[in-house]
Formats: sequence, C-alpha cells, structure tokens
Amino acid sequence: MFIYDKRQGGVNVRRIENKLGIHGSPTCELVYKNARAELCGERKLGLIKYVMALMNGARLGIAAQSVGLSQAAYNEGLAYAKDRKQFGKAIIEFPAVYDMLSIMKAKLDAGRALLYQTARYVDIYKALDDIARERKLTPEERQEQKKYAKLADSFTPLAKGMNSEYANQNAYDCIQIHGGSGFMMDYACQRIYRDARITSIYEGTTQLQTVAAIRYVTNGSYIATIRDYEAVPCSPEMEPLLSRLKKMADKFEESTNAVKETQDQEILDFTARRLMEMAADCIMAHLLIQDASKAPELFAKSAHVYLNYAEAEVEKHAGFIKGLDKEDLAFYKR
Ligand SMILES: Cc1cc2nc3c(=O)[nH]c(=O)nc-3n(C[C@H](O)[C@H](O)[C@H](O)COP(=O)(O)OP(=O)(O)OC[C@H]3O[C@@H](n4cnc5c(N)ncnc54)[C@H](O)[C@@H]3O)c2cc1C
Repeated sequence: MFIYDKRQGGVNVRRIENKLGIHGSPTCELVYKNARAELCGERKLGLIKYVMALMNGARLGIAAQSVGLSQAAYNEGLAYAKDRKQFGKAIIEFPAVYDMLSIMKAKLDAGRALLYQTARYVDIYKALDDIARERKLTPEERQEQKKYAKLADSFTPLAKGMNSEYANQNAYDCIQIHGGSGFMMDYACQRIYRDARITSIYEGTTQLQTVAAIRYVTNGSYIATIRDYEAVPCSPEMEPLLSRLKKMADKFEESTNAVKETQDQEILDFTARRLMEMAADCIMAHLLIQDASKAPELFAKSAHVYLNYAEAEVEKHAGFIKGLDKEDLAFYKR
C-alpha cells in the first residue's frame, strides 16, 4: 500500500463516469503515471492485511447505506399505499399490498438488527485493540479480542450481502406498490431503485461476500453462534417462534453436512449462496426475537413476519440442496 501526495502530479482523472445511480457521488478512474509514492506500512501486507481491513470497514458502511435505502423504500411505499385509492379503498387494505409492505418492513428490521450486531462486534474487538496499544491484555481479554474479531469477520459479509440484496428487493417492491407511477421519474422510488443497485456490486459483489462467508459455514462458526443465540432467554410471546427457529437451524446444519459430505468443491461453491442465506436467515430471526422480547411494540410484528418468511426460505434452500447431485450441475453450465 502506498501514500501519494496529489500536489506532486503524475495522476490524471480519466473522466467522470456516467452512472445509473448515486449521482450525488461522482466516480472516476485515476490513472497513475510516473507518480511518486511512499510505501505505507510493511511490504507484502498491503492487500492481505491493510486493504482487507479497510474493506471490512467499508463493507459495514455499505451495509448501513443499504439499510438506509431499505428504510427509504419502505417509507415511500407505505405513504403511497395509504394515499392511493382503488376500487373505493386505500390500496394498503388489499392483502397483496400489505403483504409486500410487511415483508419490506420485516427485511428492514432484520437487516438493521444484523447491521447493529455486526457493528457491536466490531466495536468490542476494536476497543480491545486500543487497550492493547496502551497495556498488555489479560489472558481473558485476549480471548475476548479473538472471539469478537472472529465474530466481526464472519458477520460483516452477511451484513453487507443480505442488506444490499434486501435494499434492492425493497426498492423493487416500492416501485411495484406505486404501480405505473413508480415507472415515472416524478417519484422518489425510481431514484431509490437506481441508487440501491450499486450496493450489491461495490466493495465486493454479493457473490464475493458469499466467498468470504462460506468458510464460516463449513468451519461451523455460524451454527455455533446460532446455537449460542438459542440459549438467550426470550419473552413468553416469542417462545413459539424460538422453537420453530431451532428447527430451521437443524435444517441449515443438515444441508451444510450434506454438502460437506460430498467432499466436492464445485458443489460447495454452487450451493454456497444458499447456505450463506440460510445462516443469515437464522441469525436475523434470532436477533429480531431478541429485539421483540425487549420492545414488542416495535418489533413483534416484524419478528412474526420475518420468521414466516425466513422459514419458507430455509425450507426452499434445504429442498434444493437435498435434491441436487453432481450430474445436475451439467444442466446449469452454459
Ligand atoms: C460507482 C462505483 C464506484 C466504485 N468505487 C470504487 C472505489 O472507490 N475503489 C475501488 O477500488 N473500486 C471501486 N469500484 C469498483 C468496484 O469495487 C468493482 O466494480 C466491484 O468490486 C466488482 O468488480 P468488477 O467490476 O471487476 O466485476 P467482476 O469481478 O468482473 O465481476 C463480474 C461478475 O462475476 C462475478 N464474480 C467475479 N469473481 C467471482 C468469484 N470468484 N466467485 C463468484 N463470482 C465471481 C461477480 O460477482 C459479478 O457478478 C467502484 C465501482 C463502481 C460501479
């Protein structure tokens, strides 16, 4: 990694890119030619250590940007659905419309819970890093530092991957709720739709978040965290959801073991996105149950809706993985 001082010349802006969205943030390619630069830190650590650390921070930032977009999409969709009248009533009263809105809100609350939990893990290990610069950590503190650094590393690709996909899904549904008006440039939903699109691409596409996450599926980190969450007490109202969630985790574990037993890297790569989503679905459902136990007035509805949604998702992925064999992959290749 290098430090470059722009006053020394040698760098040109190729051009300002013409983009689909995020027009408030100009993007350009920088071309370095005979630019003087200074080595920053140690040789050979630039990409694997410094840039990876930088990217983990940036990925959390994109996860937060995605939650903001999901919220904006939900707000616009809700306001329009309350206002728009068809067949003598507000469209929010049609089950097809309130179904969309409730799932948007559940994804938003689940995604935000995952973002905050990831940020919490990052805060804890970074605070311990800061203390370690001032004094020697006790053995217990060193263990905590390692534990939370690992949790932060394993949660960051989930937070970025899932929230960016949810932002896109919510932006899509926001336009759908607007009907034909949603296709017009007059409403904010078209901007949200265009702005959301980049979140699943930059700072690593969703496919690359999956590459980062899959090792925590196969090494058992996610299932261990999920089993820890199962021991967290919840309110009596949330108990039935918690027992359904335990069965979802069993399915995730069975699917993981089935894929691992094939000892086939291609099958693992092919099913990785589904396995990652199953882990994320279980984790987010737990976080919502915990939130709903503390503040039912804010989260009970989303906990119920998200559990129904996530349960169906886990079932779908488990069914797909169960029915898959090596020969099937040939049908997918182009
Ligand atoms: C608006 C904008 C701003 C940006 N800002 C910056 C910036 O500030 N700094 C910077 O360095 N970069 C920046 N980028 C670049 C951005 O990070 C990359 O475009 C992004 O990471 C995807 O890489 P790529 O375009 O090379 O796509 P590719 O790597 O060519 O990917 C193409 C497709 O192949 C898939 N794919 C590729 N490799 C794999 C794999 N191993 N496994 C599975 N699937 C794979 C991808 O998921 C994707 O679907 C910016 C891009 C945009 C559009």
